[in-house]
Amino acid sequence: MTEQPARRLLLVHAHPDDESINNGATMAAYAAGGARVTLVTCTLGELGEVIPPELQHLTGAALGEYRLGELTAAMRELGVEDFRQLGGPGRYTDSGMMGLADNDDPACFWQADVDEAARHLVEVILEVRPQVLVTYDDNGGYGHPDHIQAHRVAMRAAELAAGAGWQIPKIYWNRVPRSVAEGAFARLAEDLPGLPFFKAAVIDDVPGVVPDERITTEIDGTAHAAAKAAAMRAHATQIEVAEPYFALSNEQAQPLFTTEYYELVRGEGGEPREADLFAGLDIEEAS
Ligand SMILES: [Zn+2]
Repeated sequence: MTEQPARRLLLVHAHPDDESINNGATMAAYAAGGARVTLVTCTLGELGEVIPPELQHLTGAALGEYRLGELTAAMRELGVEDFRQLGGPGRYTDSGMMGLADNDDPACFWQADVDEAARHLVEVILEVRPQVLVTYDDNGGYGHPDHIQAHRVAMRAAELAAGAGWQIPKIYWNRVPRSVAEGAFARLAEDLPGLPFFKAAVIDDVPGVVPDERITTEIDGTAHAAAKAAAMRAHATQIEVAEPYFALSNEQAQPLFTTEYYELVRGEGGEPREADLFAGLDIEEAS
């Protein structure tokens, strides 16, 4: 059996760019610390709205291929070598925003059979044997069909992998504490006149905001803030960055969080507010 780093973190995301926005600092921190960081992205984001005018001719498969290049550049910024597409590149396509006709495309991720899609992820889990899985909550953080489906597939794969020989000890959902979001939006309201963005987003646009008491884990990524911002900039078709803010194609400024927050939903934690996703694990034994 090949030698593996002792700490192994698996993240499951819907589109290229979600990983950098949600977990960029966490991924950079663990990669720098010698952990194996594995990212599985479920679609290539073929229906994403493109920001730079000179790239707006890219649509469908051509955009997906371009975004795979952006993802590759972002992973270089974060120091992450192991990134994959669920079932291979293009196996599942972007489903578009909830309620659009795109949701009915038989090739789209929203139409995928959850068990079949999960089996691709089980292969990755049995190979990598992660102690930690990070994904979205059951609403996908904000209701996008691909994010909801990524949640379902990740949770189902964890269940199937447990039956096939690898129980992932800790599972987390991406979160933002409400008090942190409120503080950041109060500053944003003051800073907006100096920003290149059209207007401010609202807290409801931030995925995963929950009451503070649900946060179990806080990863201080201050030391990796530059890597996170660089990774987000690498997704130039989707994101504009003006630190400490960013915007998507709607030109609405949002806070760029360099401390990232999580809710432990499976497994035992360490301290009441952990500072390490692997806290409480006996890593020697688990590896
Ligand atoms: Zn997404």
